[in-house]
Amino acid sequence: MACCPSHDDKSPSLSVSEAGNHILIHCFAGCEPSEILAAVNMQMSDLMPERDAHYFDDQPPQRPKRETRSEADLAHIQIRYLEAEAMVETGHKLTAAEKKQAIADFEYLRGIGELP
Ligand SMILES: [Zn+2]
Repeated sequence: MACCPSHDDKSPSLSVSEAGNHILIHCFAGCEPSEILAAVNMQMSDLMPERDAHYFDDQPPQRPKRETRSEADLAHIQIRYLEAEAMVETGHKLTAAEKKQAIADFEYLRGIGELP
């Protein structure tokens, strides 16, 4: 329990707990979570894990199988992805095809746990 930053808290009435990837906050004096977060300059998104668009898809993407690619292929994909990333970081524009490839590589590498 902690003192709630959102109201004049005399005794700790803020409960902070973790549920899966989420952080739950609850003020027993009745403050809204959004008010509590605003009081400490945070947003709801700060409590949520990162999601991508697939989270909202009815059909999640098929996880590629690790066995389907050789290590040489994997290294090739990693290098291609890192090159695309470096291009973007240094302010270069990717072509539509390069962008599509980079996204596919990203999804693949993350699917097999090579990217966070
Ligand atoms: Zn409160």
